Amino acid sequence: MMTPETSRPSRQSAEARPRFEVSFEFFPPKTDDMEARFWDALNKLAPLQPRFVSVTYGAGGSTRERTLRLVSRITQESGVPAAAHLTCVGASRAEVDAVVRGYQAAGVTRIVALRGDPPEGVGQPFTPHPEGYENAAALVRGIRALGDFDISVAAYPEKHPQSADWNADIDNLKRKIDAGATRAITQMFFDNADYFRLVERAQKAGITAPIVPGIQPIHSFKQIAGFAARCGSSIPTWLAERFDGLEGDPETHALVASAVAAEQVLELVDNGITEFHFYTLNRANLVLALARLLGYRPA
Ligand code: FAD
Repeated sequence: MMTPETSRPSRQSAEARPRFEVSFEFFPPKTDDMEARFWDALNKLAPLQPRFVSVTYGAGGSTRERTLRLVSRITQESGVPAAAHLTCVGASRAEVDAVVRGYQAAGVTRIVALRGDPPEGVGQPFTPHPEGYENAAALVRGIRALGDFDISVAAYPEKHPQSADWNADIDNLKRKIDAGATRAITQMFFDNADYFRLVERAQKAGITAPIVPGIQPIHSFKQIAGFAARCGSSIPTWLAERFDGLEGDPETHALVASAVAAEQVLELVDNGITEFHFYTLNRANLVLALARLLGYRPA
C-alpha cells in the first residue's frame, strides 16, 4: 500500500514522476568580472538541458547590443536554446522590428515579449513611443508578423500594479496570448496561493496556454526584498521572519534560502505543476539544487 508520503509527486522515483520542463533567466553583465560569472553559471546550468535560457533586456533597451551578443553566443556555442527578452518602451516600431530581425539573423527563435517600464521608474505612468508598440500585446502581434517565433509573455500572480482590477489584468493577459504568445511566465511571488488564484482566473477566462511560475531564489533577502518592492510583489511576514537577523550570517542565510525555495517548488509540484522558470541572477548553485529536486542531472 502506498503511504501518503510516497504518493506525493515530489517524492516519486524518476520513472513514476511527471516530466518537468525548466528554463533559466540571466541578465546581461556589465563588467568583465560579471561576464565571467555569467558564463560560469551558464556552463553549470546548460548541461541540465533546460527548455531554454533567457537573457533580459535592460530597462529602456539599455542592453540591446549586449542581449543580442549573449543570446547569439549561447545559441552558437552552448547547444542550449536561447530566448531573448525584448521591450517596446521608448522605441519606434521600426527600431523594435530591427532588433527582432537581428535576433532572427542570429538564429534566435524565442522571444520573451514585454512592454517594459518608463525611464522614470516602475509604477510611473507609461506613455508609448509615438511610433511605437503601445503595449506587450501589440508587440507580440508585431513579432508574429515578422516570423515564426516562440513567444513568452509576462503574467502577475498579484496583478500588474497598473491594472485597474483583476478583470483588466486577465483581459490583458488574454490579449497577449490571443496575439500569438505560447506561454506566460510569472513575476516572482512567494505565496503559492497567489499563483494558483491567477491560474484559476486565467482558466475561467478561457486561457489555455501554460502559465509558468517564475521562481526567485533568495540569494540575498535584502536585495530580493528591494526587487520585489519595485515590481509589486509582496514579501509575506513569515518569509521576512525566516531571514530576520541573518545579514551577518551568510551560511545560515544560504541554508534558509534553499529550504524556502525548495518548499515553494515542491508545493507547486505536489499541486500538479510541471513547468518552472528560474530567475538565476547569474548564479547557478541554488537553481542547480532546485533542478536536482525536480530530477534533473547533467546530461
Ligand atoms: P503589458 O502586458 O503591456 O501590461 C502592462 C500594464 O498595462 C498592465 O497593467 C495592463 O493591464 C495594462 N494595459 C495593457 N494594455 C492596456 C490597454 N489597452 N488598456 C488599458 N490597460 C492596458 N522588463 C524589462 O525592462 N526587461 C526585461 O527583460 C523584463 N523581463 C521580464 C520577464 C518576466 C517573466 C516578467 C514577469 C517581467 C519582465 N520585465 C522586464 C518587467 C516588465 O517589463 C514590467 O512588468 C512592465 O511593467 C509590464 O510589462 P508587460 O509586458 O506585462 O506589459
